[in-house]
Amino acid sequence: MSLTVIGTVALDSVESPFGKIEEGLGGSATHFSISAAFFSPISLVAVIGEDFPEEHIQFLKSRSINIDDLQKLAGPSFRWKGRYDYDLNTAHTLDTQLNVLTQFDPQLSSQAKQNPFVFLANIDPKLQKKVISQVANKPFIAADTMNFWIEGARDSLLEMLKDIDMLVINEAEARLLAQEYNLLKASNKIREMGPKILLIKRGEYGALAFYEDKIFNAPALPLEDIQDPTGAGDSFAGGVMGYLAKTQDTSFNNLKKAMIYGSVMASFNVEKFSLDRLRNLTHPEIEKRYQAFCELSHFENYELSA
Ligand code: AMP
Repeated sequence: MSLTVIGTVALDSVESPFGKIEEGLGGSATHFSISAAFFSPISLVAVIGEDFPEEHIQFLKSRSINIDDLQKLAGPSFRWKGRYDYDLNTAHTLDTQLNVLTQFDPQLSSQAKQNPFVFLANIDPKLQKKVISQVANKPFIAADTMNFWIEGARDSLLEMLKDIDMLVINEAEARLLAQEYNLLKASNKIREMGPKILLIKRGEYGALAFYEDKIFNAPALPLEDIQDPTGAGDSFAGGVMGYLAKTQDTSFNNLKKAMIYGSVMASFNVEKFSLDRLRNLTHPEIEKRYQAFCELSHFENYELSA
């Protein structure tokens, strides 16, 4: 089953204590799509400028990613510049150039409109809302956002939240959105805004799911090699949504498995700069790491003696 995503396709310049990259392939929709395509075909809705390198477009095409809805507009592509210090959980944004994103008017093709799963990756909430208004047959809709939009476009963000089933954000964003420090209280406040399900990404500490009155804590695998955390959140969401779309099952139990696949994809994504680790990643490697995640947090319940 296919999955529609809208988000940014970007040229990222990133510096971490382990190296740097200038104008590499990035963007919320790119990290999401490359990760999700390991599980499900993708319809990518996004915009690029005239300067976007052809080799990146060919890379997207070489996966199960339909780029009929990838618009090319006159002007420069969206660019993001960021830095990480040794606390790799915190991205410091140095520069955001919206460029062609300001002229983007997404018009979904019939395939993108019909897909039963939709992900609104990090982008202007007004554009996320435009996608919601075009989809048919009540798909399962999940969304991401970030402090840039929570602080800069709160009203349109709150409008968008009313129409989605699941929100996937990080811990700091959850606190900022709910204006509440305690995560349990924040999760209740956010779910009153619209989404029934909330996933909170906690960087190197894993991720939490709030689903009706149930909570699941997905672990994070301690990793020896982390070079660039950019896109960890998007590749996590890609694994989650890709697996949900593949299995067509959004029950709590299946969401737990999806979160482990999401965590697996994020753990690979951070091992190299840009999307380089996902370029040669194989399905057996994904399954092996899924098992490692299971072993990491498996424990027996007490046998209560009479
Ligand atoms: P993540 O590390 O998963 O939170 O996402 C990183 C990706 O988000 C980068 O590849 C950036 O190109 C992209 N990005 C950064 N700022 C924004 C923004 N304001 N809106 C949409 N995408 C962004």
